[in-house]
Amino acid sequence: MILLLLNLSHTAEVQGSVWRQIRCCHCQADYVFRVSATGRGEGRMPLGLGRKIAEQEAREAALQHLAQFFAHWVEPMPCPACGCYQPDMCRALTDKKYGWMNFVGATLLTFACMFGVWVFQEDFDPKQAWGRGGEGWATMWAVLTVVCFVLGTGVLLGRRYVRKTHDPNETIPHEIRMAEAQQHAMLLAEFQAKYPTAETFHFPSS
Ligand SMILES: [Zn+2]
Repeated sequence: MILLLLNLSHTAEVQGSVWRQIRCCHCQADYVFRVSATGRGEGRMPLGLGRKIAEQEAREAALQHLAQFFAHWVEPMPCPACGCYQPDMCRALTDKKYGWMNFVGATLLTFACMFGVWVFQEDFDPKQAWGRGGEGWATMWAVLTVVCFVLGTGVLLGRRYVRKTHDPNETIPHEIRMAEAQQHAMLLAEFQAKYPTAETFHFPSS
């Protein structure tokens, strides 16, 4: 009960969106698109007291979370003039598509370490663990160590290679990129004509 009181908190969610303005590094066109997100924050209520202060803290934390998101999040959106993604967007798309390779590579290396330890563990008795004879187990662990190490290293190196060479501007057809851009983005001149008083959030593209 005491712990429950000590841990009381208030959470808040804030939704927001900004117009993000980017200069295309391929054709130098300025374009704008909308990025929306939800920020979440938490405010503490020590001993269950100070609800108003906790609500205020939670809202401020949620707003801060939202601001951080808008400052750092890379939203892949092709340029409506040439249909190309910017370099940071290409990296984000590649990470999304091939991020699993990091997990697989790290898992294989973890297994390699585990099997490597078992090779030298004299007390390890597989007969007890799996009800099978112990002959050849040490050799098998050694083989598995090498196999997992080679595969894990290969997958991680492959991940690095893919990150350097994969280009969504080549793998995604031009007409699909143009259709996405025309649906969700517009050139700065069009934006200014449509929303003369709206502000845009400049995002440094790299
Ligand atoms: Zn462009």
